[in-house]
Amino acid sequence: MPFQIETLSLISALQTAFMALMLWAGTYGEPGRVRRSLRIRSAALAVEALGWGTLAAHAYLLPTMLLLGGNAFNLLAQGMSVIALRMLLGESLRGRLVLAVGVFGWLGVAWFGLIEPNYQARVLWGSLAIAINILLSVEALVGVTVRRGSRARFVLLSVFAMAAALLIWRNVQLWLNDYPLHGITAPNNTNFLYVLLSGLQPLFAGIGFLLLYNEILQQELHLLARLDPLTGVSNRLAINEATTLMLAHSSRYRQPLGVLMLDADHFKSVNDRFGHNGGDKVLRSLVLSIRTTLRESDLIGRVGGEEFVVLSPGADLAGTLMLAERVRATVEKTPLTIDGQSVTLTVSVGVANAASSDRDGSTLLQRADAALYAAKRAGRNRVEAAMAEKSVEPSS
Ligand code: GH3
Ligand code: MG
Ligand code: MG
Repeated sequence: MPFQIETLSLISALQTAFMALMLWAGTYGEPGRVRRSLRIRSAALAVEALGWGTLAAHAYLLPTMLLLGGNAFNLLAQGMSVIALRMLLGESLRGRLVLAVGVFGWLGVAWFGLIEPNYQARVLWGSLAIAINILLSVEALVGVTVRRGSRARFVLLSVFAMAAALLIWRNVQLWLNDYPLHGITAPNNTNFLYVLLSGLQPLFAGIGFLLLYNEILQQELHLLARLDPLTGVSNRLAINEATTLMLAHSSRYRQPLGVLMLDADHFKSVNDRFGHNGGDKVLRSLVLSIRTTLRESDLIGRVGGEEFVVLSPGADLAGTLMLAERVRATVEKTPLTIDGQSVTLTVSVGVANAASSDRDGSTLLQRADAALYAAKRAGRNRVEAAMAEKSVEPSS
């Protein structure tokens, strides 16, 4: 074989160190869970590079230093990688278990290396520690936090599958062929192939991690772009999207869909009395009191300054009117306390139901809006329904 273990390890050490630097470059920006995970992953690669460096320089080291140092670097890097991946995915870190795997893995390797020398048992023990780390990573990856169809998840699962296959192959080789020379530095085919392939893993796993990091950042941005920063409920964009989706579902399954359009009455006077900040507090409290009247499947969103929409899938006209009246009455009888002063707020509500003529969500929302203005004109603090359209027939 034209390879040398030392050359292969040196290439892996350099490539892993560069990968660590590149990942570190990506951590620039707002700190947070996701960026912290990339930092830990980058540090793990740096430690892994030290492990490969130790193997590359083994000729200048005592065999005990290679055994204890090399394995310490590798197991530490493994543990840090598991923590980084679990942190990125928002899963529990399992820090104690990861630490125990690292410590017991290293002690076992030291035991079978120095006290009861047995090369096969040593490799098997180290492989078991790596296998547990792979399982901890895979468990986090198959969790529910990542959307289905995630390419990055597929890439990482493939990398872990390859790593597991490599471990199994190496152990089987060691048990089948009893090489006269023991140790990872012995020039035999199993070692060449193992060092070559496992030396490529930091590269693949690092790129896989970056892909997943990118996906998760995009997912966070997607959610952030659909949240109202003041009240924490959906914003206009999210409500428009949800209306379209719910309307499609409603006409496909012939189920009713109710819409409430609400506007706080005389809100200008609240601002005049308590200032803009006081008005903001009132808006937050208003959302809380409206939410107490909603079901789990209802969705509330803020679509204007003091204008809100509630989507109520499954609610027919009578049900939507009942819900609107419940919201109106709850807001009216829930006094809001701002700066020690009590404020009573009322809302006007326009109600509309999905009709077979609704091609997209906008016509449905427009009818609820027209009903809201009718409620305003009729004196406020009241509920008005939109002009009857042919509603979606419920399935019998
Ligand atoms: P009505 O709806 O009953 O006709 O009267 P209104 O006083 O509520 O009238 P209008 O809808 O025209 O005014 C809404 C007011 O809400 C005007 C604006 O200062 C206030 N507003 C809009 N957005 C915000 C916000 O984010 N925070 C606060 N504090 N006030 C807001
Ligand atoms: Mg208003
Ligand atoms: Mg308004």
